[in-house]
Amino acid sequence: MKILVINCGSSSLKFQVIDAETEELLAKGLCERIGIDGSITYENVKDGKDKVTTTPAIPNHKVGIQLVLDALTDKENGVLESLDEIGAIGHRVVHGGESFSAPAVINNEVIKAIEDCADLAPLHNPANLTGIRACQAVMPNTPMVAVFDTAFHQTMPPKAYLYAIPKEYYEKYKIRRYGFHGTSHDYVSSEAAKFLGKNREDLKIIVAHLGNGASISAVKFGKCIDTSMGLTPLEGLAMGTRSGDIDPAIVEFIANKEDITVHKVLEILQKKSGVLGLSDELSSDFRDLGKAKEEGNEDAAVALDTFAYRVAKYIGSYAAAMDGVDVICFTAGVGENDKDCRAQICSYLDYLGCDFDPIANNTRGKIAMISRDDSKVKALVVPTNEELAIARQTYELVK
Ligand code: ADP
Repeated sequence: MKILVINCGSSSLKFQVIDAETEELLAKGLCERIGIDGSITYENVKDGKDKVTTTPAIPNHKVGIQLVLDALTDKENGVLESLDEIGAIGHRVVHGGESFSAPAVINNEVIKAIEDCADLAPLHNPANLTGIRACQAVMPNTPMVAVFDTAFHQTMPPKAYLYAIPKEYYEKYKIRRYGFHGTSHDYVSSEAAKFLGKNREDLKIIVAHLGNGASISAVKFGKCIDTSMGLTPLEGLAMGTRSGDIDPAIVEFIANKEDITVHKVLEILQKKSGVLGLSDELSSDFRDLGKAKEEGNEDAAVALDTFAYRVAKYIGSYAAAMDGVDVICFTAGVGENDKDCRAQICSYLDYLGCDFDPIANNTRGKIAMISRDDSKVKALVVPTNEELAIARQTYELVK
């Protein structure tokens, strides 16, 4: 069965077609600038053809989906004879609140529940729903599955997900830790166990998903018991542009000093902070920061130090939470590609029994061990693949 995977943002729509049985990636692409002007990039991966970019008008997501389907069935460049070959559509949905601890086949009830969570992810859930509705309009008879970023973290116990604030706020408004990147944490922890020839149910694993957005989780015997992102993706590690953990009193302090609203301060914490803020607005991209550090830029060096230090502190706290750790996984843009960042993080981990191997660390693009073979705690690079994980989960529900 072929699965169409859709990751829909407010003005963009990423897609992939994956053969669920062979797990082969057949085609992928991206619609951008939806509602502004429009551009679609499409790549027939199956036949190794070059990427094609065109700029048709894309006034809304429904038109975007139709263009994706046209590209997939194009006589010359398509990978499908007909749309009937698509057995199901898997949608990434950011927030499932407490309603979803697993993927769900989409029906009216599920759509309502996703709408009800929109309060918790006002930028993401409405966009995800737009993608679902656009697919329903164009392919009404194809089964669809929602795969939630928050679902994997629903196994956290109350001591991990409750904030130490008046209980009524949890009861009235469901203010609690939800966590994000769950599909990645789930996928990476199971790939790591497979790679080591072990059952995930026998391992204590820490997954560091270090991309532009970054989060870390503790996966004990196959279940997530803690994660660094919270009610929203702002909490936890320092990120590309997000502050991560700060003293909450800073919000009012800046608002008063700068005479700006709380809303504005939060925007600064989301978009102008993290390594971008620490580097005095030099860059949020670790490639730029690494280069600037080599050239002697102090701010870039401090930004990279702070990032690595924060990751190392979280690893320590999750080792404590699980009473030990067997495997530490690095994934996503920074975790998979930035060997200097990994080396810096691992320099804090001797005490845990993680014997880092700088030569093995010189790796990219594939699953690899970066600790020595006899290291008590294994460190791994594990490329994430959220689309494949969504395709797998979709297939499981509809086959
Ligand atoms: P997201 O999905 O959150 O947008 P990604 O996981 O794609 O993020 O990661 C993007 C980030 O990965 C970039 O901002 C950059 O900092 C980092 N990155 C990508 N390639 C490299 C590289 N070769 N070396 C260092 N960092 C890299």
